[in-house]
Amino acid sequence: MNNINYEYIQNYINQLLPESSGILRELEEYARENHVPIITHEVGNLLRILIKATNTKSILEIGTAIGYSTILMGMAAGEGFKITTIEKNKEMIDLAIKNIKAAGYENNITILEGDASEVLKSLKDSRDNYDMIFIDAAKGQYMDFLHLSFDKLKVGGLFICDNVLFRGMVAEKSLVIRRKITIVKRLRKFLSFISNHEAMQTVIIPIGDGISITLKQKEAKFDE
Ligand code: SAH
Ligand code: MG
Repeated sequence: MNNINYEYIQNYINQLLPESSGILRELEEYARENHVPIITHEVGNLLRILIKATNTKSILEIGTAIGYSTILMGMAAGEGFKITTIEKNKEMIDLAIKNIKAAGYENNITILEGDASEVLKSLKDSRDNYDMIFIDAAKGQYMDFLHLSFDKLKVGGLFICDNVLFRGMVAEKSLVIRRKITIVKRLRKFLSFISNHEAMQTVIIPIGDGISITLKQKEAKFDE
């Protein structure tokens, strides 16, 4: 139970979905055994649908971990896709490199090492470069990531974030764990911001740990 949906609804939806196969299945097993927080099946399916429906070919990802979501998104994007993915943990990067090779995607996927806030600042030449941005990393920094990456997304592109409801804590005070209060407050501020900004159209979907989908309607300037 993750405090986001009724457990019976979540279980029902999950058992409808076909099981993964091949490398995705292997990575799911690895993630389960080693407690790597990869996206859930429902979130994976949503990403597949969004990528295919929008004919997305170029993606910027923050939070690679073992490369599970990276490979899943690449498979959905198909022929000629390009993904730039940012990760700060060296051990994770080594695993991701190995997994991306095993998937045969080493020419399509570029991993950039470092803290995303720093790496994004160095990506100066990538204005309007991406059809989609997928964020699945330090939840307290989502606002920074938005500010630093929004100009890299094409108008009409989707800016998607995972874990935005953070085990229900973001929506319900009584669920908040004391030491998570700062992250929860930041997430609330972030969700309110992307829900009300004139350059954006946002929907928040309570699947997985909560996912936000924001359409970039026009360019925006942010003052920090
Ligand atoms: N998207 C992956 C799971 C990512 S888990 C999947 O679904 O398969 C989150 C990852 O984000 C972790 O590996 C963590 O090291 C990385 N991370 C957290 N904060 C980061 C930051 N500020 N910059 C870069 N990577 C970060
Ligand atoms: Mg996540």
